[in-house]
Amino acid sequence: MSWDARQRAMLAEMGFRLPAAAPVAVEAVELAQTEPEPERIAVAVAAPPPAIVRVAAPAAAAGFSGLDLPALREAVSGCRACGLCEQRRNAVFGQGALEQVQWLVVTDPPDEADDAGGEAMGGNPLSDSGRLLDRMLLAAGQPRTGDAASAFVTPIVKCRPPRGRAPLPPELDACEAALAAQVELLRPRLVLALGLQAARRLTGLAEPLGRLRGRVHRWRDLPVVVSFHPAYLLRSPADKAGAWDDLCLARRTMQAS
Ligand code: SF4
Repeated sequence: MSWDARQRAMLAEMGFRLPAAAPVAVEAVELAQTEPEPERIAVAVAAPPPAIVRVAAPAAAAGFSGLDLPALREAVSGCRACGLCEQRRNAVFGQGALEQVQWLVVTDPPDEADDAGGEAMGGNPLSDSGRLLDRMLLAAGQPRTGDAASAFVTPIVKCRPPRGRAPLPPELDACEAALAAQVELLRPRLVLALGLQAARRLTGLAEPLGRLRGRVHRWRDLPVVVSFHPAYLLRSPADKAGAWDDLCLARRTMQAS
């Protein structure tokens, strides 16, 4: 199977129905589905400032500054900087490319499977949402595994909140230090925020996810694009087409930067 055929198969699985006539270049399909692009980005740059207050935690706040990646991973696994450490089974540092990282994919907090396995979405065979995420990233040309890996996936807080509740502001503040340290080491070009909690934290806006999508935000001098969490897409497959629009916006944004 050629690369184009594989990519077309992945897009179809995500909810797209590409024209039956072969060979339609995927890039052309993307552009046709997402025009007009320049106006959308221009509006996003002019978006109003954040509407909610957040504490920008430096990496040094929790002793994460100055560490290399293995040491940072170890520090996160033993971190007790907020109350979420009390009931976690494993802190979830994240998985993906460690060099030449293009996309940092920041998801909502770990789910039960992530907490059990200590890996971010897809590190265990129970995670359908992780498999969908991997297909989405591969289709977007930013895989998190393999020789060409260019994405790193990590949750907005590294420890699962009890009973899956939303993380509290002090917990988000504390764990931003770990995320900041990951950014310093991985040096991604763009952040893709998947899910409402990750999106609100990184945009600083207490708005519905639908209003955060389709525009480019900024966090720590990085462009941020918002999309659906893969677990939501499994429940609402009609929104997969919208998720693909978001991935195309992320691609165009990174290419323009
Ligand atoms: S959620 Fe983050 S800050 Fe809180 S204990 Fe876990 S790693 Fe540390």
